Amino acid sequence: MMKDDCIFCKIAAGEIPSKTLYEDEDFRVILDLGPATKGHALLLPKDHAANLYELPDALASKALIVARKVAMRMKEKLNCSGLNLVQNNGENAGQTVMHFHIHMIPRYSDDGQKIGWVPGEPSSEELEAIRQMIVD
Ligand code: AMP
Ligand code: ZN
Repeated sequence: MMKDDCIFCKIAAGEIPSKTLYEDEDFRVILDLGPATKGHALLLPKDHAANLYELPDALASKALIVARKVAMRMKEKLNCSGLNLVQNNGENAGQTVMHFHIHMIPRYSDDGQKIGWVPGEPSSEELEAIRQMIVD
């Protein structure tokens, strides 16, 4: 189902033109207009899901198969030496377009980009408390 005011729904449906790398009945993969590196792409489901929490299992599992297919092409054709898959959920995680998407960011030795975080140093007890919060 499309959401009327969602730009990625319109792009995925082909109503707004995009630089499409791949398309099937469930997904479209397009070049990002503000790329981090050469070939930075976005994998979009055609049905609207705002984020990972809303994505049906069937699409979630297919998405990684499509991402892998496109990743293999990128590796071969762009000769990238690495690839980051990045998927943001919610404003605090950096999501700006509220339609599920996976960033596919080819990496090159001299690309000048850094995708990462500052590692914490939790104690074993702190890790255990967090583990229990999640699994209980
Ligand atoms: P996020 O911050 O994870 O929500 O990522 C949104 C991404 O969408 C950004 O990398 C933008 O550069 C990209 N973007 C936004 N609008 C468009 C568009 N019309 N076509 C292609 N990429 C877009
Ligand atoms: Zn949408």
